[in-house]
Amino acid sequence: MMMTTFVVDTMLGKICRWLRLLGYDTAYSTKNDDNLLLQIAETEGRVLLTSDAELHRRAEGKGIPSVLLRGEVDEEIAALFNRFSIDPRIDPARSRCSKCNGHLTEISEAEKEQIRGRVFEQTYNHYDRFWLCTDCSSVFFQGGHWKNINRYMEHIRSLMEPTQTPVGPTHDHRETRPRSP
Ligand SMILES: [Zn+2]
Repeated sequence: MMMTTFVVDTMLGKICRWLRLLGYDTAYSTKNDDNLLLQIAETEGRVLLTSDAELHRRAEGKGIPSVLLRGEVDEEIAALFNRFSIDPRIDPARSRCSKCNGHLTEISEAEKEQIRGRVFEQTYNHYDRFWLCTDCSSVFFQGGHWKNINRYMEHIRSLMEPTQTPVGPTHDHRETRPRSP
């Protein structure tokens, strides 16, 4: 099944970040340009997420799927996730770069030396798992920010309607919590 792709307006930067971490291909422009957003949505077949009622109306007028969000309101995020069957559990194996939407690859123990000097020494020594964006070369690890996002995603999950997805015994590593210090 094809995953829904999104384009998000400038006001919804956090949603953009969460969707990317959840593995959704999500475009974002820092230019506050409605025509550009509509164009990206139309030509790339993306769902527009916007906090701008006027832009939302324009999108609908052009037959572009669009969701109007008042901002990062928990209930609205939960409704959005319900609507597109988004499971708010972050699996770093599927995550995209929260900065540029690029693909992440995990750095193996053997390659860890590569990122020495690119993160704080303390971070380097403390964490075993790191991910590298193949597009912008950003380095990611499951630090405090990651835990906060996971906690927030759990909260969103609690607000979502129960889904039909059966939770079988094969429910595996996705439940794994990030390493704590
Ligand atoms: Zn990147």
